[in-house]
Amino acid sequence: MSTGTPPRTVWQNWARSVRSHPMRVERPTSTAAVATLVQAAATEGLTVKAVGAGHSFTSIAATDGVQLSLDRMNAVLHHDAGTRRVRVQAGISLHELNPRLLALGLALPNLGDVDPQSVAGAISTGTHGTGGRLHGIAAAVAALQLVTGSGEVVEVDEQHPWFRAASVGLGALGIVTEVTLQCVPAFLLHAREEPIALPDVLERLPELVEENDHAEFYWFPHTEKALLKRNNRVPDGTRRRPVGRLRHLWDDELLSNVGFEVLNRAVRLRPSLVPRLNEMSGSLLGAREYVDHSHAVFVSPRRVRFRESEFAVPREALHDVIAELAQWFGARHETISFPIEVRFTAADDIWLSTGHERDNAYVAVHQYHRSDPTTYFAAAQDIFTAHGGRPHWGKLHTLDAEYFRGVYPRFEDFLAVRDAADPGRVFTNPYLARVLGR
Ligand SMILES: Cc1cc2nc3c(=O)[nH]c(=O)nc-3n(C[C@H](O)[C@H](O)[C@H](O)COP(=O)(O)OP(=O)(O)OC[C@H]3O[C@@H](n4cnc5c(N)ncnc54)[C@H](O)[C@@H]3O)c2cc1C
Repeated sequence: MSTGTPPRTVWQNWARSVRSHPMRVERPTSTAAVATLVQAAATEGLTVKAVGAGHSFTSIAATDGVQLSLDRMNAVLHHDAGTRRVRVQAGISLHELNPRLLALGLALPNLGDVDPQSVAGAISTGTHGTGGRLHGIAAAVAALQLVTGSGEVVEVDEQHPWFRAASVGLGALGIVTEVTLQCVPAFLLHAREEPIALPDVLERLPELVEENDHAEFYWFPHTEKALLKRNNRVPDGTRRRPVGRLRHLWDDELLSNVGFEVLNRAVRLRPSLVPRLNEMSGSLLGAREYVDHSHAVFVSPRRVRFRESEFAVPREALHDVIAELAQWFGARHETISFPIEVRFTAADDIWLSTGHERDNAYVAVHQYHRSDPTTYFAAAQDIFTAHGGRPHWGKLHTLDAEYFRGVYPRFEDFLAVRDAADPGRVFTNPYLARVLGR
């Protein structure tokens, strides 16, 4: 029998770790429409949350109020060839943006390892790639347009007092409707991937991070096997040599996706197989080299669903962190099939960026989406926090405002900007109440 109440939409994130039931879903096409929707929701006493591609593992994007999808606000508005600044609507995905930038002879200086995220979503959580002298994507923000809790439209540029709070804003300050990105000339990268022993990669780390534009490695738990990836800009005139179709199919689709899904299903039945299978995976992924457009090198397909927790730790703590994780694996609390990813960035000046005033190493732990990550991630979190780790805002952690006050020197300043931009807490949700403390 009908109760007369229309059923609410069910929203879930990519990892299937979060579900929410928005009261209604809106897909505005202009900043003016966003402002009107925010005002209307505030008048009704409802909260509002913008959602991008739902690629956060935390409930940072969840709402039971009004959900705003900016997927129809995906235009490149204009670009300045002299300054290489590009103004976009904030709902554009990185997947749509990268080829549009290339057509203008431009690129973002650095990217993470997938591209479905919206520009607003990626910057709001501090999404990053790797590069010992480089920063996260939010560092490329030269200005942004924000709709505040009262529906006012504010241009936040480098001179604005909110600037260092607004790019990694956690969705807490307002709805980002446009972003100006400082781009660089389009570039090709020479990618080199090769197996390496964990002790070797750790010993050579300072030189690897210093001498390569983008260095990272994957460590296979319960083994001493790792895969080292180095991507470097090539001199002008170098020709593209993309990965061949067959090699791409074998490495990126069969081994890294189809085969990996099968392996993860198998080890749920026989977890004791994991150490041997990880040894095999570490050996099967062979060496390869290619040259391609920067975004084609940074981004890979990720079809096996997983859960992830990632912390930024001071670079000098990395050896201890890896040793403590190895000790935990050695004690066989659980067997873990997903490799651990280690990346690097340089210090920036954004208040809630994991890179705030600190050269970091990032250590990411993953678990297959059908397996419970709680024990593993809690153990890893204890190790990371003992070294002053800062969790990625979009990846799983259980920390709250009390902890963040200690690891972010400008935490109170961020809260003051939030009080000014959203005094009525139109943009809050339970995740923000926990991590910001109110
Ligand atoms: C397979 C996979 C790979 C990943 N790889 C990386 C990686 O390499 N590096 C890395 O750092 N992270 C990575 N992530 C994490 C991901 O980049 C971040 O969680 C990112 O925030 C997701 O962007 P989104 O568009 O999906 O945003 P959502 O998850 O939908 O939202 C994230 C936050 O942004 C806010 N938001 C979205 N749009 C707006 C707007 N218009 N105005 C204000 N706030 C807004 C939301 O309210 C929410 O607070 C990965 C995630 C997955 C699932």
